[in-house]
Amino acid sequence: MKELTCIVCPNGCRLEVEEKDGEWIVSGNQCKRGEQFAIEEMTHPMRTICSTVRTVFPEAPVLPVRVSVEIPKERIFDVMQEINKVMVREICGTGDPVIKNVLGLGADVIVTSSILKEE
Ligand code: SF4
Repeated sequence: MKELTCIVCPNGCRLEVEEKDGEWIVSGNQCKRGEQFAIEEMTHPMRTICSTVRTVFPEAPVLPVRVSVEIPKERIFDVMQEINKVMVREICGTGDPVIKNVLGLGADVIVTSSILKEE
């Protein structure tokens, strides 16, 4: 039996999950999403990443970014290394990718601010 806190919504339900006869039994969840979260955490945990990248523009030396879809939890460190290599040299705005298909994971790293376009 493993205890987890559901991070899908602010309720933060305390979940208990265990495997019995090849099936995952989840309790403590208030909704179906909690059950999905618990099973995914036990089998293939995924996470989003929010970070920043550097730019050559003095008026906005860093830009906020995030991954376009969740990535495997165990690849967070690798993706952060790729994000840390980025230097933005062209004007870009919200939704523009600074890395496409990062490490072949099917996720782009996209800008979440249009501050450079507002200057
Ligand atoms: S189980 Fe449902 S209600 Fe509880 S934290 Fe997860 S998503 Fe929210």
